[in-house]
This record gives sequence, C-alpha cells and structure tokens, in this order.
Amino acid sequence: MTQFGTWQPKIRGRLYYNWPRGTCEEALRFTGSEQLGLEPYDLVIIGAGVVGCGLAYQLSQYELRVLLVDRLHDVGEGTSKANSAIIHTGYDAKPGTLESELLQEARAAWPDLAARLKIPVDPIGGIMLAVTDEQERQLVAAEKNAHANHATDVRILSAAEIREREPNASPDVRGGLLVPGESLGDPFMASIAYAEVALANGVDILLGTGIAGVELGQAPGAPLHHLVTDDGHRLPARRIINAAGLGSRRLADGYGGGAFDINPRRGQFVLFDKCARSLVRHMLLPMPSAHTKGVLVSPTIFGNLLAGPTAEDLPLGDPEATHTTVEGIRRVMEGGSRLVDGLAQQPVIATYAGARCSCNQGSYVIRYNDGAPGVVTVTGVRSTGLTTSNSLARHLVDGMQKELGLELSSDTVALDARPESAWPGWWRRPFEDRPPDARADHGCAVCFCEVISEGEIRDALDSPIRPRTMDALKRRTRALMGRCQGFDCQVPLAELVSGHTGIGIEQLTNNGPGSELVAPGQAVRPEEVSA
Ligand SMILES: Cc1cc2nc3c(=O)[nH]c(=O)nc-3n(C[C@H](O)[C@H](O)[C@H](O)COP(=O)(O)OP(=O)(O)OC[C@H]3O[C@@H](n4cnc5c(N)ncnc54)[C@H](O)[C@@H]3O)c2cc1C
Repeated sequence: MTQFGTWQPKIRGRLYYNWPRGTCEEALRFTGSEQLGLEPYDLVIIGAGVVGCGLAYQLSQYELRVLLVDRLHDVGEGTSKANSAIIHTGYDAKPGTLESELLQEARAAWPDLAARLKIPVDPIGGIMLAVTDEQERQLVAAEKNAHANHATDVRILSAAEIREREPNASPDVRGGLLVPGESLGDPFMASIAYAEVALANGVDILLGTGIAGVELGQAPGAPLHHLVTDDGHRLPARRIINAAGLGSRRLADGYGGGAFDINPRRGQFVLFDKCARSLVRHMLLPMPSAHTKGVLVSPTIFGNLLAGPTAEDLPLGDPEATHTTVEGIRRVMEGGSRLVDGLAQQPVIATYAGARCSCNQGSYVIRYNDGAPGVVTVTGVRSTGLTTSNSLARHLVDGMQKELGLELSSDTVALDARPESAWPGWWRRPFEDRPPDARADHGCAVCFCEVISEGEIRDALDSPIRPRTMDALKRRTRALMGRCQGFDCQVPLAELVSGHTGIGIEQLTNNGPGSELVAPGQAVRPEEVSA
C-alpha cells in the first residue's frame, strides 16, 4: 500500500509559478497575464492558505472563472502549514458567534469531507485537564459552554477516570473534561486537496506572485478592477477576495477597506520522535484563558508527539513571527510538563512556529463591498481556520450571492472528490500499519525514517499542483520529515527531483527562489564524486 499515488485527472485550470528561468519547467513558468487568457476573472482570491483554497474548491463547483494567487511557492504555505492540526468540535467557542456556528457546521461535515477529499483525520478525542483547584472549579462552566455549542457528548471526568485513560497524566490533575469529538488532522493535506480539485475543475492558480495593490475600476455598478503584482503584471477581476491572512491589512489599505488591526500571535511548537507517541492516548488540552487555548500535548496524525503552542503577540510585519526562540521552547516544555509526566525526557526532532492572524475586532471579520463594489475582506481567522475552512467557504459563497449579487450556476461536470485509488489506505494511521511501498516500479526507499519510495516521490512531483520545492514535496510525502530531518535523504531526494523535473540541482530550493539548496557553483555532480 502506498502512501501517495498518482492522480492525473483532466486538469481544466492552469498552474503557473512566477519564477526565474530554470527554476521550474518552462511550461509551468509565469511570463505574463496573457497566459491566463483575455477574459477578466469573475473572482480572484488573494491568498492560497487553507481559507483561500477552501473557497476556491467551493467556487469551482460553479461555472465561474476563478484565479487563486499567492506570493508563496505552494498552496497552504503560510500560517496554514504551522498549526496544531486539530479538527476542533468548537466545544470551547463562544456560543452565538460566527466562529461557533462555523465550527458546529464543520463538526457535522468533516467525516464526509475528509472521506471525499482524502484528508487524513483521526478522531482520537481530547481531554481538557484541570491542574489547579481554580481550574477544577471552572470545569462545570466549561461543560455548560460545550453543551451550549451542541457538543453534548462532552462530560466531566474525575482525576481517577483520567488516570485510567491517561496513565502519564500529571499527578497534579484534579479532573477534566472529556471531548470525544476532537480529532487529529493533516495540517497540509486540506489546502492541497482543495486546491487540486479546484485546479481540476478549472480554477487557475498562480504561485510566487505577490499582489502589490489593487487598481479600482471606476465604472458604476459592477466595475472591473485590476490586481497589480509585485513585478507589475495587471490581472483583471470583477470581484476580489482578500484572504491574505497576515497580509490582509496591507492589501485592504490599497483599496480603502474598513478599519481593522491585525498582528501575528506567534505559536511555538516542539515535535517529539515517534517513540514518544505512546506517552498519551488523547490530545491533552490545558484549560484555556481569554488570550489562548494554551499549550497542549497531543499525538500527531503522522505518529509523533507534539507540544505547543505559545501565544506571543508581535507587531505586524515582524520578520521573526515564525521563528522559534529559546524562551518560547522553554515555555512549551513547561506548559506541556504541567499536563504530562515525563515529557521533558522524550527525544525532540524539530521545533517550529506559526503565526495566527489575531484581529482586535474579533475572529472571522468578513466585509462585503469593502472600500469598493465587489471587494471582500476575510481576516482574523485566528485559531480554528483549518477546521472551518470548508464551512467558512460555504458561508462566503452565500454571502457573495446576497451582498455582491454573485450568480451561481452549477458546473455539472465539476469534481468534488479525489479518488480512493490514488491514496490507497489514506485513512490508515500511518504509524500503525503501513507496509513499505512494494510496487515493482517504485524503486528503493529514499527517505528511510518515513519509509518513502522513489516512486512515491515521482508520483508526488506529477500530482496536480506540481510541487517544485523541497518543502512542498515534504508536505505531500513526509520525506524529510522524519527523525533525521533530511540529514540522510536530502541529497538523494534532490537528485531524484532534479532527474525527474530537469531542474538543475543548483536551482532547487527549499521554498522558492532565494532558498537554494546549494550556494551557486557549489553543487557536486556524481561524476566528480566518483572521479
Ligand atoms: C499556532 C497555531 C495553532 C493553530 N491550531 C489550529 C488547530 O489546531 N486547528 C485549526 O483549525 N486551526 C488552527 N490554527 C489556525 C489556522 O492555522 C488558521 O486559521 C489558518 O491557517 C488560516 O488560514 P488563512 O488561509 O487565513 O491564512 P494563511 O495560511 O496565512 O494564508 C494567507 C496567504 O495569503 C498570502 N498572501 C499574503 N499577502 C499576500 C499578497 N500581498 N499577495 C499574495 N498573497 C499574499 C500568504 O502568502 C498566505 O499563503 C492555528 C494557528 C496557529 C498559528
């Protein structure tokens, strides 16, 4: 059974990378807006995070001309790649808010969505742990809040009941709240799956293209706007959706969007080796504060153990918003150790940080005809956007019908699923039962930690959103993501990618131009090694 198979549907959309010559195949290289056709787009979505990709997927079910554009070099490469990857039930949301409504809708929809799009989800459940007397007193209110959010299976557990379920829970645990519906998700696959289906259905995708500004059309009624890219290309659009996360404020300034203040709220994580996974059986959650859900300890869908995140407010534009720090990692270890005994003794294989789009005006700020007719701003999707990505997209499509007069006609041949055959065993817990790829034409393993074969890498390179960076490949296959973190496999992997795509080793990057694997002139060719 392979982890990754080929899916080569009839692709109706166009995919381009706005990269220098030689860094991807010429057929994938963006050279000018004429490649995208002369007709203006009905909608252009700025931001191919999980929110933008989810919206592209929903819009691709209708006969519309849609463009999804991102300044980064893969879909889901911003905040969407660095989170806790929990598919939340919304038990702790504030009842009556849009976030609570979208989470409830998502809770009902995820099992079917995951099955259709082949997004791994593991419903292991969560336990929120009270480790002080004060927190224990808060459990009754937390249970009531969960029930108000229709998470009626949530219930209080005694300390003894918790210890039975979680032998390594801290001896300080006084009690807790069982949340059976909390699930582990694959943080990367949601954006990729949405975008693949959207592309197959005719959505155009332009990566590596920052939008510098918007030229607003002046005609009354439904004016034609133009997006101006960082390198001066003009992209015509009847409607624009600003789903640019932490970039949304700067874009909104360019079209006169209403006031909102955002800042990155950094969350740092510690990732432990797979041997640490057995330390806990559920995701163990701390009691949340008004500021943050707090540091959790949880297995990951890939079979590791994860602790984090912190919640540190940084100024907008801070270049360190996704950096880890010694202090941050210390806080993660301290927070995690309050919940689980023995965490500090587990082997760490990586640390990372993501930056939530924290908005002073609240979560899920959505504005239609914001600054100009046909312009939509979606921002402040702070802590639950992976979970709500599809329900939010449906909400936005409804809103655009009502507020923008968007007319929808179903595309009768549009796909709304990825085939099972392409991901045999996609639903299987990868760490429990995954025999190595034994397909005759798939060659040897190239990543020994995660046991990924050459054939799986080639399949990933040929998948619809042709991944052309090492990070993009990693998110699809998990090569480079194991305990060696690429120490052993990066060179053979780079040779394999170069051989399959024709991109020179010197041009291969971790995450787009400027992050080359080797300094210019430093690549060692195999013939030089053997000489
Ligand atoms: C620490 C942490 C933990 C989290 N845990 C969870 C969780 O467990 N469960 C859950 O459901 N959610 C969680 N989230 C929240 C979730 O990750 C976010 O809500 C979601 O990723 C937001 O997606 P997005 O598309 O709005 O933003 P992004 O993924 O940031 O996408 C925005 C995109 O816009 C692009 N962009 C910006 N400016 C421009 C421009 N000028 N031109 C072109 N492109 C531009 C960026 O490159 C980026 O790719 C967590 C978040 C963090 C940080």
